[in-house]
Amino acid sequence: MQSTSDEYSLKKIIHVDMDAFYASVEQREQPDLIGRPVIVAWPSKRSVVCAASYEARSFGIHSAMPASRAKKLCPDGVFVPPQFDLYRQISNEVKSVYRKYTDLIEPLSLDEAYLDVTRNKPEIPSATEIAQRIKTEIKQVTDLNASAGVGPNKFIAKIASDWNKPNGICVVKPKEVLNFISTLPVRKIPGIGPATEISLKNKNIRIVSELACISEVQLVNWYGKFGKRLFNLARGIDLSPVNNNRIRKSLSFETTFEQDKTLAEIEPELLPLTEKIWNQLGAKNLQANTFYLKLKTHDFKNTTRSKTSPKPVRSLHELIMLVQHLLYKSRLPKNLRYRLIGIGASNFVQPNASGDQPRLL
Ligand SMILES: [Mg+2]
Repeated sequence: MQSTSDEYSLKKIIHVDMDAFYASVEQREQPDLIGRPVIVAWPSKRSVVCAASYEARSFGIHSAMPASRAKKLCPDGVFVPPQFDLYRQISNEVKSVYRKYTDLIEPLSLDEAYLDVTRNKPEIPSATEIAQRIKTEIKQVTDLNASAGVGPNKFIAKIASDWNKPNGICVVKPKEVLNFISTLPVRKIPGIGPATEISLKNKNIRIVSELACISEVQLVNWYGKFGKRLFNLARGIDLSPVNNNRIRKSLSFETTFEQDKTLAEIEPELLPLTEKIWNQLGAKNLQANTFYLKLKTHDFKNTTRSKTSPKPVRSLHELIMLVQHLLYKSRLPKNLRYRLIGIGASNFVQPNASGDQPRLL
């Protein structure tokens, strides 16, 4: 563990995360929504919540929850459809603030990015000061709040930005890293979803300090390659660089079930994933010609079904139809049980670049 202290001191990473981004933008655009529970969701009975204002969160509403459930929790909530063009435009304004300090920027989504400020353009030695300036300038330019985490690597910075939300800042110095993460629930580690959380809980591992007691060999035995990463993260070590030129060739989301499901039981799980893909494509201003459905059987065998259309899919409805087609029309064995489903998109085109039709709401 001692040998990592040099690695800690090597880098200064900031993770910036806009607070309740889509919902805050809607409140900024319509000031009568300020102070009210705003829920950003597509206007369909079966859709899921894209974002919720802090007022809506106090009713227990959170993103990825079915919109129908949000409506039950908060009947007086204001439901608005997402406006990705606007979110993207604001995201670009925020990025130009980052660029005053560094070009080493890795966006994670429209409202989140890692910045490597180890060396920065104004040559400010304190990453904390840079984070404070960035927060202030984002507010000046966009009238929106952001939270920032400062740490010696991406993992720590990301956990830290969540610490004092909203409108907060949290700085974790290299020597504070182990203390900072020791009592953290393992679920907070990026890559640990509900299924891995349960698997660890069954082994009596609930918090990071308990995870840090497990040998690397054991973790690799349990979780393969991810086990090696877990071994490092449990020690606060993350050597992954801030990557500013990631070109996406595909995009995918998956869900691992707590209990294996039949094909019929899988259908309701598909809609949230379909919307997630659709929203991410919108956020990145991409359209896709190919979509695929991935299923992992109870005995860990992967099956993939894909469909390539001559024209990009242009509406969420069209995409839902396509995904259902993949599920029902592609002769998947009905008697099997599945432990994971995923939906992916590839074969991207930039809308409007070649006279393509814009996407529809
Ligand atoms: Mg955010």
